[in-house]
Amino acid sequence: MTFDSYRPPVCGAITFLPSHLVEAAVGLAAPGSAERADVERHVRCTLQAHPADGDHHGLVMDLEGRDTGSVWTRWGPGRPPAEVVVLPDCPGEAAAGGEACCEFEGHPGGHSYELADEWAAG
Ligand SMILES: [Zn+2]
Ligand SMILES: [Zn+2]
Repeated sequence: MTFDSYRPPVCGAITFLPSHLVEAAVGLAAPGSAERADVERHVRCTLQAHPADGDHHGLVMDLEGRDTGSVWTRWGPGRPPAEVVVLPDCPGEAAAGGEACCEFEGHPGGHSYELADEWAAG
């Protein structure tokens, strides 16, 4: 028996981004670089499975350019997303293979490449 292949699961909580936050997300991008269609409204928390009282975080939109970060939204249990924020990208990168982490800098739990995400399996 080996533990090398064990990957903890992702949270997987889903929510729907309210219309006013779509506008807010577009407003966080550089002028003219994003439109409403670029904003992901079916948001899913891909953090490592976390305590129920912790906020979920879901990626809303990538921002153009290097080191620009991405737009994220946060929401608590049983509540809709209340805000969108720009967070820097996680600098984490797997030593072997160079797979980058898809989360934001300072995120709780393991890096995305350390987790098992059944939606991303393919
Ligand atoms: Zn979550
Ligand atoms: Zn990471």
